[in-house]
Amino acid sequence: MTHPVVTMTDRSAPVTMSAKDARERILSTLAPLNGSGLVALGQALGRVVAEDLQSPIDVPPADNSAMDGYAVRVDDLTGEGSRLPVSARIQAGVFPAPLEPGTAARIFTGAVVPEDADTVVIQEHCQEDNGLVSVEKLPKTGANIRRSGEDIGSGSTVVCAGTCLQPQHLGLLASVGLAEVPVRPRLRVQVLSTGDELVEPGRPLAPGQIYNSNDTVLTGLLERLGCELLPTQQVPDAAEATREALEQARGQADLVLTSGGVSVGEADHVKPAVEAMGRLDLWKINIKPGKPVAFGDLGGVPFLGLPGNPVSVFVTFCLFAAPVIRYLQGRSEPFPDPIQIPAAFDRPAAKREEYLRVRIKDGQLHGYPHQGSGVMSSVAWADGLARIPADSVVASGDRIEYFGFGALVG
Ligand code: AMP
Ligand code: MG
Repeated sequence: MTHPVVTMTDRSAPVTMSAKDARERILSTLAPLNGSGLVALGQALGRVVAEDLQSPIDVPPADNSAMDGYAVRVDDLTGEGSRLPVSARIQAGVFPAPLEPGTAARIFTGAVVPEDADTVVIQEHCQEDNGLVSVEKLPKTGANIRRSGEDIGSGSTVVCAGTCLQPQHLGLLASVGLAEVPVRPRLRVQVLSTGDELVEPGRPLAPGQIYNSNDTVLTGLLERLGCELLPTQQVPDAAEATREALEQARGQADLVLTSGGVSVGEADHVKPAVEAMGRLDLWKINIKPGKPVAFGDLGGVPFLGLPGNPVSVFVTFCLFAAPVIRYLQGRSEPFPDPIQIPAAFDRPAAKREEYLRVRIKDGQLHGYPHQGSGVMSSVAWADGLARIPADSVVASGDRIEYFGFGALVG
């Protein structure tokens, strides 16, 4: 499928592509990574499940008591105050003999209910004295028994293919006795930061230089998404060095991410280098912050060129790179649905779709006061992004779309 793209040279073309359109176009050209392998449950946190996983057992495996009390057969109780001899004591962890007719068995929470008992009377409704229990309040038949298979039936799917395993999924798999999980391969990602002005933190800054913060942000985001990171590299603004770095990256990575070097400046060497190796679509996506974003293919390896400004990098990572990564990983939901939350601010209409750095407080969205694309403190302050569609006015109290960082990059 080919898409009409707006290239850098095509300056007269309208800039109308929404983030959603761009994301859908990008994803439509990709396919999830093939293959799967078994990993131990203890190693599976954050991995993506390769196939639907079924429970090999019923959970609970047997009828068991939900309370401390006495297991009885209701028909043996003649009325309130009925007395039955206590014929057994059943603790959790043992398999009991059938209940002797006309008796009760002392039973504890989680213990297997004996065959021929149909009800557990809670201990608060019983008095035990000299080996006899009197039942002060008659139970309903079947009360206080957790039935075998009530939570999970043997053979039923417990975790679906495409799930990114969280501690609760691992707990569920453990509860059905699975020790290994088939997972998708980890995505190997190469990050390249372009720019002659960049210096690694910890070194002194010479005049004209700035610290490379994109590298650190991208590394953290990729780790959050469970990627395998190839050693990150800083690439000078030179045609040959850019080409070499991209060549090397495509030989090792499943995805190559760059920051900077994709605007219209003379020092932007990414575009020609990618074009020489494969294909590059440079879309002026109608968003703020974030345009332009480049998407391409380095002869079989997907490429995403993020802008250079740190806030733009963070936002475009959330909107494009994270969904690309999740999609390549085989995750079932590459991009989250928004939550509608009332805004605590007014905002005039703007030509571009905006992604404001916001924070939820008292059930309302508050925006960081400085929303410039160089202001990284806005991202550090925020807990998510609010999407304001192009040409829309926001009045305080309007419900607007919110995407939490956890949902975007978790
Ligand atoms: P560029 O798109 O390369 O022109 O970069 C746009 C802006 O982002 C410039 O002000 C760059 O100095 C800045 N920038 C680019 N890369 C980084 C980086 N890795 N860390 C921090 N700022 C950067
Ligand atoms: Mg640059």
